[in-house]
Amino acid sequence: MLLAAVVTGALTSSCTHRPTPAAPPTACVARAGATLQDVDPGDLPEKPWRRDGAEARVVFETSGLPVRYRHLVDRGAQLWSASPCVDAVTAPRCAAGDHCVHVVEQRTDGEDSDGEFTSHDGPRYRREGTITLYTDVLGTESDDEALVTVVHEMGHALGLRHRRDPRSVMHPDSGEGTGPAPDAVDLANLATLYG
Ligand SMILES: [Zn+2]
Repeated sequence: MLLAAVVTGALTSSCTHRPTPAAPPTACVARAGATLQDVDPGDLPEKPWRRDGAEARVVFETSGLPVRYRHLVDRGAQLWSASPCVDAVTAPRCAAGDHCVHVVEQRTDGEDSDGEFTSHDGPRYRREGTITLYTDVLGTESDDEALVTVVHEMGHALGLRHRRDPRSVMHPDSGEGTGPAPDAVDLANLATLYG
């Protein structure tokens, strides 16, 4: 599923999911003239978080989640921290001043979405975000499949759009055999966005 809408400054995208390998960037530097690769042209641009140093530290707040999903968000934070642009961490609660993404569960959205991300953005930077995990749907999936959804929504939270490559974790449709790891294109796109 793919759904994106802008409502009073809030960006929402709703989806399901997939990944790939190659040589990722080693520094958070945008190549001269670099543009985002393989992005879905129908997706609206997303904003990065402000970098305070070499990396943007983004806290995924997990106190509202059952333990299964807290563990999946922990794994997702480790995977996204492969980016030299992002320090993705988890905490029970965000502290004042954190770049905070609230991760919450809802049983269902009445359709068949398994996850959704909504952000509040400033003129240049992302200010706050919420990932909603639809646990009636995710609950029927294996941990590996559910992790793909979690990593996908975390990718949106970090500013990534959907990819066209069906093997990518940022592709809007999930499928069996999709791996959870961001690929070199995802990491290059983060470098373009943050570098
Ligand atoms: Zn999506």
